[in-house]
Amino acid sequence: MVGCAPKQEEPVTQDQPKEEFKYLVDEFADLRIMRYQIPDWNQLSMQQKSYIYYLGEAAKCGRDILFDQNFKYNLKIRKTLEAVLNSYQGDRENEEFQNFVVYAKRVFFSNGIHHHYAEDKFFPEISETYFAELVKGSDANLLPLNEGETVDDFIAFLTPVVFDKELYKMRRSSEEDIIAHSAVNFYEGDINKAEVEDYYNKVREPNDATPISYGLNSKLVKKDGKIYEDVYKADGLYGEAITAIIGWLKKANEVAENESQRAYTQKLIDYYTTGDLKTWDEYNIAWVQDSVSHIDYVNGFIEDYNDPMGMKATWEAIVDYKDLEATVRSNTISENAQWFEDNSPVDPRFKKEECKGVSAKSIIVTTLGGDCFPSPPIGINLPNADWIRKDYGSKSVTITNLMEAYDKAADECPRSALKEFAYSQEEVDLCKKYGSDADVVHTNLHECLGHGSGKLLPGTQPGALKEFSSTLEEARADLFGLYYLADPKMVELGVMPDAEAYKAEYCSYIRNGMMSQLARVELGKDVTESHMQNRKLISEWCYEKGKDANVIEKKVENGKTYFIVNDFEALRGLFGELLAEIQRIKSEGDYAAGKAIVEKYAVKVDQDLHKEVKERYNALGLKPYGGFINPEIVPVMENGQVVDYRVDYPSDFLQQHLKYGKEYSFLPANNN
Ligand SMILES: [Zn+2]
Repeated sequence: MVGCAPKQEEPVTQDQPKEEFKYLVDEFADLRIMRYQIPDWNQLSMQQKSYIYYLGEAAKCGRDILFDQNFKYNLKIRKTLEAVLNSYQGDRENEEFQNFVVYAKRVFFSNGIHHHYAEDKFFPEISETYFAELVKGSDANLLPLNEGETVDDFIAFLTPVVFDKELYKMRRSSEEDIIAHSAVNFYEGDINKAEVEDYYNKVREPNDATPISYGLNSKLVKKDGKIYEDVYKADGLYGEAITAIIGWLKKANEVAENESQRAYTQKLIDYYTTGDLKTWDEYNIAWVQDSVSHIDYVNGFIEDYNDPMGMKATWEAIVDYKDLEATVRSNTISENAQWFEDNSPVDPRFKKEECKGVSAKSIIVTTLGGDCFPSPPIGINLPNADWIRKDYGSKSVTITNLMEAYDKAADECPRSALKEFAYSQEEVDLCKKYGSDADVVHTNLHECLGHGSGKLLPGTQPGALKEFSSTLEEARADLFGLYYLADPKMVELGVMPDAEAYKAEYCSYIRNGMMSQLARVELGKDVTESHMQNRKLISEWCYEKGKDANVIEKKVENGKTYFIVNDFEALRGLFGELLAEIQRIKSEGDYAAGKAIVEKYAVKVDQDLHKEVKERYNALGLKPYGGFINPEIVPVMENGQVVDYRVDYPSDFLQQHLKYGKEYSFLPANNN
C-alpha cells in the first residue's frame, strides 16, 4: 500500500492557535515522533463526527493482532514492558531505567521486537540482571504468566527471547529456508517453504480469472503431520479482537453517510465473521467504486510485505475524510491527462491515443491503526487484487495532513538536513518557500499521470524488463512529473503558484538523488530499493549529460560536497530526454538497454561520498524514521448524552501506548 510517493499528558485542545502547535514531540534511537492535526474538524456534522469516532475505535481494536502476527512472543513481551512501566516500584530516574524506557518505546513503535523497516531484532541497552530486577519489582498480576508459571520461570523463558542475538534474528528473512529463518508468525509448526507452496498449489484453482487472495487471512499450521489454515475470523484466530472491531463497525453503520457505505461495511462485517475471501473481494469491489462519500476508511488484512512468501497480510486501519481543496488540484491534473500525454517529449509511437487519468484524492487522516501506526505511508493505492484493479479501478490517495506534519516537524528541528546539504541560503529559502507544494504536485503528477502514460508497442511483453522493471517504471513516473512541474501549463491551471516554484523540487530532487538519500544506505552496500535507485538513476544521468554545459555543478568546500542546479531550463530538457528514452525502453521492451542504464547509474555508490554523507548526517543527529501520535477523538457528554466530539492532541508517545494497552488489548498473551 505504500504509494510511490517520493520519500517517510497534557491534552492541547484544537482551539489553540495553529502557531503554537508543536509537531515534533519526541526523539529516541533512530526514530522521531510527531503529531498531526485534523483541520476543519468543526466543519463536520455531528453525524460525520460520530461516524469517524466509531470507525476510529474500530481502527484501534486490531493493535494486538499485528503484534502477534509480527512475532509469536511480541504480546508477551509488550505486556511485560507495560507491567514494568505501570507498576515498577524501584528507581525510575537512573540511566538504566531510561534505557529500558527507550527499548519499550522502540517495541511500541515497531509493533514488536524487530525493527519496523530493517526487520532485524533490536536489543535493550540494559543487562539481563537489571531486566530480571525490573520484572521482579513489578506487580506479578500484570505479567502474562502461564498457568502455574512462577515469575522466575517466566524470566528464564523471556530473557533469551529478548537478549539472545542469534534467536529470532530476522522478522522476515531472505535466507533459505525463508519460512524457517523468519520470526514472523504466519506459519506454525515444523513447516518449510516447499510444504507451503505445495499446500497452496493444491487449493489454488487454475485458470481462474478472478482468483481470491489465497492465504491472505490465515496462519498456516502444521500439527501432527497435517497442514491446515487457522483463519482470522470472529470465531477463529484473533476472534476476540475481530469481534471488537465488528462491534464498532456496526455502530459506525448506524450513522453512515449513505447506502453505499452501509452496504460495503456490512460486507466487511460478513467477511470478518466468516473469514470468506470471496466476501472480501465483494467488499473491495463495492468499496473501490465509492468515490462520492466524504469519509472513508481502510480496515482489514491488507498488505503482504511482512510475509516471506508474499501472501499473508498484516492487519491495518486508517480513517480519513477528503481534503477538498487539495483534491481539486489532483482532479485538475487528472482532467487534463490527454493534454499532458499529447505534449510529452516522448516519441508519438509510444503515446496513448486515449488517455484516462487515475482519479486520485487527497485525504486527511483522523486515526491510524495496526500496520499504519505509528509509521504510516503518505500515499495509498488499493485494493491490491490485480483483477479488481483492472475491472473496477483503484483508489489512489495522498495524505495531506501527514505530509504537512513531516514538513513542519522538519522545520521545528534545529538540525536540518536541508541546511546541511543545500549549497546556499538562497537554495534553503527557495525550498522553504515552495518545497511542500512542489513536492505534493510532483507526487500527484507521478501517481495520477506518470504511471498511466504511454503504451507498449504491439508484441512487447508487459514483463519484458524483468528485475529492472520497477526501478525503470518509477523513473518513468518521476520524470513525467519532473518534466511537467516546470511547464507554464501548471501555473495556468492554478496547480502551481508561480513560475519559480518548480525550482524547489528540482534542487531537492538532485540533492537527494546525488547525495542525501545515501544516508539510509549502509556503508559498503549498493543502492537496492527501487525508489532510491530511480532517484539516483535520474540524478546521475542528468549530472553526466549536463556536465559540459555545467547544468548541475559539483562543488567541494571545506571538505563538504554540494550539487548545485545552475540551469533549470536545461535540466528540464534533460528530464524530457531521459523520459523519452525510458519510455522507449518500456514500449519496446528493450531489456538490454534497461539493464545497462540501471546498472550504470542507479546501483553503485561513490564510497568517499557515501562516507561523507553518512558522517554529515550522523553529526546532525537526525533520525531517519518518523512516526506519529494519534489525536484523541473524545465524546463530549451533557446530561448523559453525547452532544459533540472534541479532538485532543496528546504529546506523550509512551502514555498513548500505555493507554492503548489498557483500552484496546483483546488477545491473550499467555497461551503459547
Ligand atoms: Zn510510483
